[in-house]
Amino acid sequence: MTIWDDRYCTDAAPTNSTSKQAAVMRLARAEGLVEVRHAPFDADATWANIATVHDRAYVEAVRTGSPRRLAESQGFRWSMAQADAVARIWNGHTAACRLAGAAGLVLHPVSGAHHAGPAEGSGFCTFNFLSGAARAVLREGLRLVAIVDLDVHQGDGTYELEAGNPGVALFDIAGSRWADVSSGDRIEYLIVGDAESYREALQRLPAFLDRLHPDLVQYQAGMDPFEHDPIGGLDGVSEAFLTWRDAFVIGHVRRRGIPLVVNLAGGYSAGVSERLHLNTVRVMAGRSGEDEPAGPPTATGAPERTDT
Ligand SMILES: [Zn+2]
Repeated sequence: MTIWDDRYCTDAAPTNSTSKQAAVMRLARAEGLVEVRHAPFDADATWANIATVHDRAYVEAVRTGSPRRLAESQGFRWSMAQADAVARIWNGHTAACRLAGAAGLVLHPVSGAHHAGPAEGSGFCTFNFLSGAARAVLREGLRLVAIVDLDVHQGDGTYELEAGNPGVALFDIAGSRWADVSSGDRIEYLIVGDAESYREALQRLPAFLDRLHPDLVQYQAGMDPFEHDPIGGLDGVSEAFLTWRDAFVIGHVRRRGIPLVVNLAGGYSAGVSERLHLNTVRVMAGRSGEDEPAGPPTATGAPERTDT
């Protein structure tokens, strides 16, 4: 199941951040991988809900375009269409998380949440829809929501918003440090330098899931760890490695019967990132081309079994 709205995409970003999602959807539709549902959208209710997570002055700046510095603090050009897009994405992400309880696995192919903090945007992220959706489903009765953030940049905004929330667990693998974080039972922020250390860090995920038993996982399947990514990039992280990574994460979450929502997050290689994100959708559909992924080139020992 996929939540999607063509109005998510604009030309507001200097990168592919606000446009690549439509390309991924075109590719996924061409392969028959997605069954689209539209989320009902109430603009006033959505803006009011955003203001329960972010400071009202910042929310108003994004909604109205004024003051412009604050409205564009994430690095996008402000427009009415862009303001509408981020509100629709917020609403859609909460809808995806609600749907996951019944559907099991939901794709919401959007980007731009995890650097957004309480009072401003940052790093191509306007509003932290990961936080917004987690808080919504917690209010509706879930006990614990885990956010697995494998974008190559650290989820500093998510940490700032949710580190003190006992209903949210955070698992984050990044290539550099963006925030002072303290890891613990409920929070694992790991820094890696190449494919081998990435693989080792990811081996901590099954124990994280078994220890915490989240009711829902939100997975940021970022493609900016890709070795040739112009804004990210980790040595040895190939396309095959990233497909293995997605099969590992999705397989471990789903084998435990945990509802899962997958979003795209970063990935800035023009003409390549779209294909990398499409690979995530193929893994979700059980069509990654490998019944049993052979594991990353640097893996030793038996490959992880996946049943996606
Ligand atoms: Zn990133």
